[in-house]
Amino acid sequence: MQLDKVMAAEVTIIDHPFVQHKLTLMRQADTSTAKFRQLLKEVGMLLAYEVTRDLPLKYEPIKTPLAPMMAPMLAPEKKMVVVSIMRAGQGLLDGILELMPSARVGHIGLYREPTTHVAIEYYFKLPHDVEQRDILVVDPMLATGNSAVAAVDRLKEVGPMSMKFLCLLAAPEGIQHFHEQHPDVPIYTAAIDECLDEQGYILPGLGDAGDRLYGTK
Ligand code: URA
Repeated sequence: MQLDKVMAAEVTIIDHPFVQHKLTLMRQADTSTAKFRQLLKEVGMLLAYEVTRDLPLKYEPIKTPLAPMMAPMLAPEKKMVVVSIMRAGQGLLDGILELMPSARVGHIGLYREPTTHVAIEYYFKLPHDVEQRDILVVDPMLATGNSAVAAVDRLKEVGPMSMKFLCLLAAPEGIQHFHEQHPDVPIYTAAIDECLDEQGYILPGLGDAGDRLYGTK
């Protein structure tokens, strides 16, 4: 698949050196479960920092110990929900919540049917006022794109103010599929890898993010 075609869609690569370094450590096959989990949390916080770069600020009067001033604060009306695609999304979510501890959280449980790779929903729980919020959907791996597309399909039924999709690694095939279905939802990722293998894993990738996060393999 041609990378330039994929890149024509709205994809932001978060190429901060700390993110890239941590991603490399996570890719390594001999990185332990504990280390992988820690790194995913750290990288989640760094990615969230970049994804929220466009949050509006309001100037409020405050007093420092020396003088009054007008100081920037996050605009209170801009409310976010982070929606984790289970189970690997949890690892990213933990880091994101370190940065924005008061964000509301939703969960979508999807598993990949092993032969067709179709996403099947088994859990769906959101805060009640999602239509007044901006959603950040998180899943470390955008592989075939089936889970991401299914999650965003479902979330659009609820009608949030806006949506962004955040992952750690993306395959060109997944980006293309996602953008065909949801051209209005921008993707943020730390890297775009080469391709998918016949099982739908990202190559070179980092393996199964859920297994590596929870030590289930
Ligand atoms: N999900 C993963 O955890 N890893 C991949 O490479 C693809 C999908």
